[in-house]
Amino acid sequence: MKYTLSRYNRFQPWQNGYHIAYNARSGAVALMTEENYRTYLAIGEKLSGRDTGELNASEQALLDQLAYGKFAFPTEYDELAAIKFTHQLNRFESSSLGLIVAPTMNCNMACTYCFEQNKRGSMPPEVIEALIEFVEKRAPGLRHVDINWYGGEPLLAMAAIEDITQSMLDLAAEHAFTYTSSMISNGYLLTPDIVDRLVDAKVSMVQITLDGPRRVHDERRPLKNGRGSFDRIIENITYAVKKMAIGVRVNIDKQYNEALIAELLAELEAAGLQQRVGIYFGLLEPASEVCANIAENCYNANEFSEVEVQYYRQLLQHGFRILRLPSPVGVYCMAQIVNAFLVDPDGDIYRCFNHVGDKSKIMGNIRNPINYEDPNFRRLFAFDPFEDSMCRECSILPICMGGCPAKRVDRNLIGEELCETWRHNLHSMLDIIAASRQQQQQAAAAAKE
Ligand code: SF4
Ligand code: SF4
Repeated sequence: MKYTLSRYNRFQPWQNGYHIAYNARSGAVALMTEENYRTYLAIGEKLSGRDTGELNASEQALLDQLAYGKFAFPTEYDELAAIKFTHQLNRFESSSLGLIVAPTMNCNMACTYCFEQNKRGSMPPEVIEALIEFVEKRAPGLRHVDINWYGGEPLLAMAAIEDITQSMLDLAAEHAFTYTSSMISNGYLLTPDIVDRLVDAKVSMVQITLDGPRRVHDERRPLKNGRGSFDRIIENITYAVKKMAIGVRVNIDKQYNEALIAELLAELEAAGLQQRVGIYFGLLEPASEVCANIAENCYNANEFSEVEVQYYRQLLQHGFRILRLPSPVGVYCMAQIVNAFLVDPDGDIYRCFNHVGDKSKIMGNIRNPINYEDPNFRRLFAFDPFEDSMCRECSILPICMGGCPAKRVDRNLIGEELCETWRHNLHSMLDIIAASRQQQQQAAAAAKE
């Protein structure tokens, strides 16, 4: 059988004569010896016809391994068409239902950059009932349901979360679908008692934002009463990590620098969280006109990709795990999936996190049949990365899939401003990821001794 090398392969020199081998379609990252790398180059020459010789036994053996990791595939196979097919399957998948539910828009914090409308009150019983009916109607065809709790601060509506979860679990048992759940929370109310209740409610992962070390976080993310929240959040996390996965998001803008990150890492280390939390850096962006006043403090994608590398390098130097991986995505976001909906406490349905609370952006209400003709559905759904010449030819298409559609539609960004930071920093990030793996292996080996 004739083989072709994947257009998504990337090889780069690493330490001690090794090369990092990466394939964006499978997400595989491996270390390759110098000898294997030379064999790889020889295989490339022979498969392309530039060298007319036959593959020898060691080349054939390596080619078999490469094919296993999707670094190579039979020549008659159309790699781009296969990715497009998977993308379409993900878009129109009807056996999974993804819900992002805001059980309240109320919040106990007053973050300096937040423009969410802090409405009081939780999702009323009639909306909870309608939400359950919404899932119940679809249940016979479902194999999986996932709810991501969002807000406002979702933990201010714990009773609604427990109510809805119980019904989901009943429906899951009746219709034999699996149910998973996660949450985005500011972490202040994530006390041990609440953690235990969330575990019962099948919430297996909570994402918490820490905006820097204590002194910066408390200034940027104060409670509504003006007090700081950092110490209590850290205390909460130290219990929570024993029961569930905790992801810490650090929102980055131009006010950050390496000294602040080092201070935050030292505080997390002092709390014993170095190996217990996954940290990732998020770009603070002026997501709509209402927050245009923060724009001057925000990095553009290119600038952010540079500071992101510096900060991940710092994580590595301080012995934190690197969890940001260039993994393939079927679609970039829920806005491009027909069976994913973001529901607010009124039962109104949105397509984007940044739209919640802006009633001009709703695509319907869970009480009514879904209307896929609604312009607010079509606006973000319409973008197809395979119709964009830059994305179609892009060497990281499988891990970006054209990026956030709202950047195109709401913010009218163009060119590389649309690209995931991988496009700018994959080389440096692969170095960091390989070093992190090595660090983890060495730590595991040391622990065994
Ligand atoms: S459209 Fe963009 S901003 Fe909105 S949810 Fe998707 S990725 Fe996030
Ligand atoms: S948005 Fe940029 S990085 Fe993403 S697939 Fe398109 S060209 Fe590639």
